[in-house]
Amino acid sequence: MSIEFENKYIVVKRDDIKKYLNSIAQKNLYRYLGAIEAARKAEGKKNNTYLVVNTDEPYAGEVAQIMQRHGHFTPGGMNCPYCNEIISLNIVQYYPELLYECECGTVVNDEGEDMTDKYYNPV
Ligand SMILES: [Zn+2]
Repeated sequence: MSIEFENKYIVVKRDDIKKYLNSIAQKNLYRYLGAIEAARKAEGKKNNTYLVVNTDEPYAGEVAQIMQRHGHFTPGGMNCPYCNEIISLNIVQYYPELLYECECGTVVNDEGEDMTDKYYNPV
């Protein structure tokens, strides 16, 4: 059984930030994250920490079911405009626009528009 969650969070491994971003980009990223944290604090929100489960793990489905049972579930996913299967929100591009790829190879944006041609044949 597969449960599709809303693609609600961006999770980045600290090691990847260190490895793939130069020091200026690292400082900027942490500055922006700090700004979000400060704004949340100003609104009286607490600074949350999270358990992260890689969806590739064989136990991810069990974790998803536990979360669903406890009401921590916002349905997500969208249907592929080509094969009509639920796209598992496999991100293939972050910038300038978030793009996801279906297992059939179709690439869509957040609105579910087919971006396959633009993705593979950029101008
Ligand atoms: Zn598809």
